[in-house]
Amino acid sequence: MKYELPKLPYAYDALEPFIDAKTMEIHYTKHHQAYVNNLNAALEEHPELAEEPLTNLLKAIETVPESIRTAVRNHGGGHANHSFFWTIMGPPVSKAGSKTAIEGPEGKIGEAITKSFGNFGKFKTEFSKAATGTFGSGWAWLVRDANGKLSIMTTPNQDSPLSKGFEPILTLDVWEHAYYLKYQNKRPDYIDAWWNVVNWKEVEKHL
Ligand code: MN
Repeated sequence: MKYELPKLPYAYDALEPFIDAKTMEIHYTKHHQAYVNNLNAALEEHPELAEEPLTNLLKAIETVPESIRTAVRNHGGGHANHSFFWTIMGPPVSKAGSKTAIEGPEGKIGEAITKSFGNFGKFKTEFSKAATGTFGSGWAWLVRDANGKLSIMTTPNQDSPLSKGFEPILTLDVWEHAYYLKYQNKRPDYIDAWWNVVNWKEVEKHL
């Protein structure tokens, strides 16, 4: 079994103007594809592991044979993280922005965030701060632990929260390749814009 790029659930330009079409295209067809290719190449050395769901490999990363452990952590993580990231975004309500970027989502996910962080504004500030402060390349996450408790964390490189015992609920890629074409060095502007394209209906499924 070989890993493949998952189908992108929207067009490259669907997240405009917050995430530009060129960035989406390169991010998906070049960066994500490279993680898939490199993961497949690593697993050729251990074909028995290719039958195991990727999430299981990441959860038990310390048991993956040492010769390919770093490759699975980096490229398996890269594949899993990007596959997840695409699904929790979607077209903004309008080019001027989404109401939920300011007021937060309604429903179960909105209630869970309020319960865990006080209100949406506090959650947004804390998550954005974590994303802004991630040194170098990495990801910001809203995760839940085995007891269902929500928290914000960051991971370096392509590390997955699964390897630390957390299930992802929401994530933001803060590698420069995710924003440099449009935002250059202004990572905080990218983060501010990104809130307009969060697909809360999808996020809620991970609660
Ligand atoms: Mn990326």
